[in-house]
Amino acid sequence: MISSVLPTYSRAPMTFVSGAGSWLTEADGRRFLDLGAGIAVNALGHAHPALVEALTTQAGQLWHTSNLYQIPQQQALADRLVENSFADTVFFTNSGTEACELAVKMARKHFYDKEQPERVEIITFDGAFHGRSAAGIAAAGSEKMTKGFGPLLGGFVHLPFDDQDALTAAITDKTCAIMVEPIQGEGGIRPLPDASLRGLRDLCDTHGLLLILDEVQCGVGRTGKLFAHEWTGITPDIMMVAKGIGGGFPLGCVLATENAASGMTAGTHGSTYGGNPLGCAVGCAVLDVVTDPAFLTEVTRKAGLLRQKLEGLVAGHPDVFEEVRGSGLMLGLKCKVAPGDVVNAGYAQEVITVPAADQVVRLVPPLTISDDEIAEAVKRLDAAAATLSTS
Ligand SMILES: *Cc1c(COP(=O)(O)O)cnc(C)c1O
Repeated sequence: MISSVLPTYSRAPMTFVSGAGSWLTEADGRRFLDLGAGIAVNALGHAHPALVEALTTQAGQLWHTSNLYQIPQQQALADRLVENSFADTVFFTNSGTEACELAVKMARKHFYDKEQPERVEIITFDGAFHGRSAAGIAAAGSEKMTKGFGPLLGGFVHLPFDDQDALTAAITDKTCAIMVEPIQGEGGIRPLPDASLRGLRDLCDTHGLLLILDEVQCGVGRTGKLFAHEWTGITPDIMMVAKGIGGGFPLGCVLATENAASGMTAGTHGSTYGGNPLGCAVGCAVLDVVTDPAFLTEVTRKAGLLRQKLEGLVAGHPDVFEEVRGSGLMLGLKCKVAPGDVVNAGYAQEVITVPAADQVVRLVPPLTISDDEIAEAVKRLDAAAATLSTS
């Protein structure tokens, strides 16, 4: 008999009842060190006092009105995002894949309104992940996500990851945009080299295309900059953000330049819940913390510490691990054994990690993780790896 919860996830046996900082607790008191952070969502850890305060204060005042009216919390968050990024304008969603939907619509509408309606194709890359909506799975294109779901939304051209020649050859007069994650998350913590991202920007400029960055996983301080593309000096035309921006409350957004967003006039897009007072109050509280340069400097310092310890872990278990990769506090351990085995061995040591594609175990801890917790986490991963060593 089918379970009452639709069985689309194979779940680990833990049931967490509370969380504080980098720790999750089960009903019997068993505590896990959380290097998964709800898949890079709990950017400030669990039950961060400023987020609890923002949410509960707002909850006592007003939950929902509608985008038919002015929403001051939404206005404030949009202003903050515009002040702190390339963007001129922001639309709020409840998730990453809804942000993908709008990014696709916005890019196509931009060219439609410029009397180039034939420009509908968006170039995407192997290993990409843009969520599970119809546009999201069509954009990513992997059979794992699309098989059995009928006619796919058309207009996506899938290319090998980081292959400049294939890219140049694929651009036609139907191309409207290139969509890419600066660091692939689900794809296995695969960073696009900085030079390649700059190359994409150049190609877009040369051919008059829009560059869409998916920073749903790598954004909001995770790499030590507010947004990962800031390391390269280039800016996108459109950017998808979610996960960390809500710190655990469902919140996403699309940031865009005025030019890219030019087609999105009144009535062209909408959302019942997107930009509601609760989510935006929390989003503002997240940004208060994450836009502080001292906070971002700390992320980079701690990322260096974690990376250094992970290099030691890999060196100590050459039969289990191959390499450390990634950027900031978005790191991957490429494994020689099944990554699921590493994750499960970690559970036995009460440390949480997340499997990804390409034989990788992901470490995306709260950005607030302490030095002591980093040391403890790697100690636990070391114990986990020891149980997997074949030698
Ligand atoms: C998680 C993720 C998404 C989808 O976000 P949802 O909130 O699950 O819809 C899209 N893109 C990237 C890069 C992601 O990591």
